[in-house]
Amino acid sequence: MVTDIHGPVRVRFAPSPTGHPHVGNIRTALFNWLFARHHGGDFILRIEDTDAARQVEGAVESIVEGLAWLGLDFDEGPIFQSQRLPLYRSAAETLISAGVAYRCFCSPERLEQVRTELARQKLPPRYDGYCRKLSPSDVTAHLDDGIPSVVRFRTPRVGDTHFHDLIRGDVTFSNATLNDYVLLKSDAYPTYHLANVVDDHEMHITHVLRADEWISSTPLHVMLYSAFGWSPPAFGHLPMILGPDKTKLSKRHGATTIIEYREQGYLPEALLNFLALLGWALDDRSELFTRDELVAVFSLDRVGKTAAVFDRTKLDWMNGVYIRALPVDEFARRSLPFLDRDLPEEVIRPLDPNYVTRVAALLQERTKVLSELGDLSEFFFVDSIEYPAATMIPKGMDGTQTRLVLSKVLSVLEDLDAWDAPSLESMIRPLCASLELSTKQVFTTLRVAVTGRTATPPLFDTMDVLGKTRCLNRLSRALEIIDDLVTGSGNGT
Ligand code: GLU
Repeated sequence: MVTDIHGPVRVRFAPSPTGHPHVGNIRTALFNWLFARHHGGDFILRIEDTDAARQVEGAVESIVEGLAWLGLDFDEGPIFQSQRLPLYRSAAETLISAGVAYRCFCSPERLEQVRTELARQKLPPRYDGYCRKLSPSDVTAHLDDGIPSVVRFRTPRVGDTHFHDLIRGDVTFSNATLNDYVLLKSDAYPTYHLANVVDDHEMHITHVLRADEWISSTPLHVMLYSAFGWSPPAFGHLPMILGPDKTKLSKRHGATTIIEYREQGYLPEALLNFLALLGWALDDRSELFTRDELVAVFSLDRVGKTAAVFDRTKLDWMNGVYIRALPVDEFARRSLPFLDRDLPEEVIRPLDPNYVTRVAALLQERTKVLSELGDLSEFFFVDSIEYPAATMIPKGMDGTQTRLVLSKVLSVLEDLDAWDAPSLESMIRPLCASLELSTKQVFTTLRVAVTGRTATPPLFDTMDVLGKTRCLNRLSRALEIIDDLVTGSGNGT
């Protein structure tokens, strides 16, 4: 049973730095982290960087940064496999001496011929075992001749390999479908298989929780453990993540690297919650979990076997929920760097944190991601706003009426001393009645005149924050604009 755990849990997140971590990688990290924290165990970060050719500059940094941003703290690491090469080389020697691995001197050309022949026969690509039967003296002679070689595992050709998967249950692979996998490459770097197994053993890993795509490597790993005489860790393969169209998750589905989610203004606690639900569920209802709640309730029993579906709309919804739940000061604090980054250059920096808090208070309700804030709040910060004059003219009114509204509003507000939302409202509402216009009409004109937008936070609160000088300037400017429109076109409608 999955939950019968004896002794300290030690799990690892073992990314290869071949790209910036994306949703799938971090979901693996998260499940390992939750499992470790739930059981009071250790979470280790191991960088599997033995394939120098496939490494991407900056990938390690973005792995570490992504984990830190989400608060997935590790107890050991990062440990780099590239710094442990002698360990893998001596492990390969051990296997050769025991006769369970052998040196293969086949040239790339020969291997290509084997592949072509198998393809012609519509058989899966597999090494034909040519070097299995080399005698020790042949091997020595080839080595003396300086012929490059790899070390391969002598995979049994008959029988089955079984293991119990914590998520999938009992799994069996027929050995005949497996290959004589390479363990050590000709440059004496280990392959994933060798380094991964040696390290999981050396680091006393108790549970290997990794993405489904690795399950086909597990029979080899199980055989390697037995060849070394080590007892294997428990294995659990996490379900795939698909896009809503049920194809493999990609950028097309709005999935990006973790760092990009940060740049786009997702809150780490929202993304963490969202990722936890990709393949795990407590029940069929609960969706919102804090980090501590997740640690308390997470278990492998509730990780699904079937693929999880990544739904960007749900992530946006969830982010909005987390944003609305923030105390306003905290929301403002988190908004500040986004405003700083996204507001036009003309806005003077540093931004005034008090003003930002007042603006943020008005926008919190309508924000889904923090990267929207620059655009949503621009009119609060810039000096002059641009808008098509016609947007000031509401339905059922013409330019002349709009001009009248603006001039009345201006004259009423010029004399207003207490510039706050209730006072503004108490001045403007009666004006609508006296002009025999609906509040909706008057508010539309006013809203566009002071913000340049047709959709904004509540009008009077907005005007309150904008302040008297800015509002009056904008109203005067609006009056000029509408005046030009009316006189220019005769009517303006
Ligand atoms: N280096 C592998 C990866 O990039 C590790 C897989 C495993 O956890 O065994 O995902």
